[in-house]
Amino acid sequence: MSPLDASPPLGQAVRTPCVSLVGAGPGDPELLTVKALKRLQQAEVVLTDDLVDQRVLACLPASARVLRVGKRGGCVSTEQRFIHELMIREARAGARVVRLKGGDPFVFGRGGEEVDALREAGIEVEVINGLSAGLAAPASVGVPVTDRRCTPGVAFVTGHNGEHGVAPDWAALARSRLTLVVYMGLTRAAVIAQSLQDGGLAAGTPAVIVSAAHTPRQRECFTTLADLPAAIEREGLPSPALLVIGDVVALSPQWRTDLGLEGSTSAPDEVAAVAVRAATAAMAAMADGIDDSRVAARFQAA
Ligand code: SAH
Repeated sequence: MSPLDASPPLGQAVRTPCVSLVGAGPGDPELLTVKALKRLQQAEVVLTDDLVDQRVLACLPASARVLRVGKRGGCVSTEQRFIHELMIREARAGARVVRLKGGDPFVFGRGGEEVDALREAGIEVEVINGLSAGLAAPASVGVPVTDRRCTPGVAFVTGHNGEHGVAPDWAALARSRLTLVVYMGLTRAAVIAQSLQDGGLAAGTPAVIVSAAHTPRQRECFTTLADLPAAIEREGLPSPALLVIGDVVALSPQWRTDLGLEGSTSAPDEVAAVAVRAATAAMAAMADGIDDSRVAARFQAA
């Protein structure tokens, strides 16, 4: 049982001050966890980020007080310290406080800093995971972030330089063969694409940009590593957006169509030729990898 479940209704006794750090997922409220939805329905005070979808906020009771404390890049933002103070004040006053964050609170969401500040103030915290955009956005366009036939894993990285100088080592990532999921990478896509190529990642590596995943404004553009910055410019894809780079992108049924490769036997240029080879190899490996007897057994068991 969480500290919130244990709390008596308002007015009966003093509650243990507690804040729920809740992941709102990428947009679509159906992607909230059951636990997140419960906390939203119990909330009295909600501190929300800009990234949180209106449809998720619509799940709150009409009586909930909603405080917008967004901090989007380039916009007027709320000081992190002020957010801490506000949460502490409301929790101490006995309110059921929900700190609502886009995606998952612990994935580029400053969740760790907020947990530290609350614990230092003697406030209990529970963390309720949300579906991070880095998982949800690729899946929404048919891209599995890992697939043992073409990558040993996935790296979730920031495209930002990092306030404390902890920037990703692009050359190491280029050599890693991991799928790269880049958050906050839109404005630095040119530098990122060049750094990865300088590190040895092939120019024709399949890539996709997914903007506003799981919202009515979702748009995506399939391309290649070398073409990433031009594609962003050409398509005018807005923030929030993710860059996904790696051979898994070619597993999306949309990839070949969007690159104009569907049905063509001769690739339009060398970049596309490299990409076609990656896609063809991945498809062939996929066909080889299917073990019919295990699939049949699964169906019988179901
Ligand atoms: N905690 C969030 C990430 C916050 S950092 C999570 O787990 O998803 C903000 C970055 O997340 C954005 O710049 C963008 O790169 C990515 N992002 C968040 N929501 C997104 C969405 N709906 N579609 C695409 N990218 C998204």
